[in-house]
Amino acid sequence: MLLELPTQDRIGTWMLNSTSLSCALCDGCMDSHDHLLFACIYSKELWRRIKVEFGLFGFPEISSDIMDHLSDNRGPSKMVHRLALSGTVYHIWRERNRRIFRGIKQVPIVTYRQIRDQIRLYTASWRIGKKT
Ligand SMILES: [Zn+2]
Repeated sequence: MLLELPTQDRIGTWMLNSTSLSCALCDGCMDSHDHLLFACIYSKELWRRIKVEFGLFGFPEISSDIMDHLSDNRGPSKMVHRLALSGTVYHIWRERNRRIFRGIKQVPIVTYRQIRDQIRLYTASWRIGKKT
C-alpha cells in the first residue's frame, strides 16, 4: 500500500511544474507518496509526535526502510509500530482527501490526537483481551 500513489506520481512526470499536482497538505511540493506520507511538513509533525508518544525510537523515515523494519521480527513493540504506521498513514490520507474533496483543513494537532487515541484504544483492548 505504501508504494501505491501511482497516478499523481506518473502524471507528475508528464506535467512538471504543474501547481494542480501540488501536495494538498502543504501546497508547496509536488504530490508523491513519499512526500505525502513521510516528507511533508504536515506528516512530519504527526510522525514526530507519534514517535515521542509511543517511544518509536529507531523508526525509519522512508517507506522502503519502514517495510524492512516491520518485516524483520515480531513482538509487542513491533505491533505498536505497525499500528502507528497504519493509523498515521490512514489519517494522512484522510486529511488529504478532506482537503481535496471537501475543502476542509484540520490542523496537525487534531489529527495527531485522533491517531493517538486510536492507538491507545487498540492497545488497551489488547490488555483487556489478555486478562480474560
Ligand atoms: Zn506536502
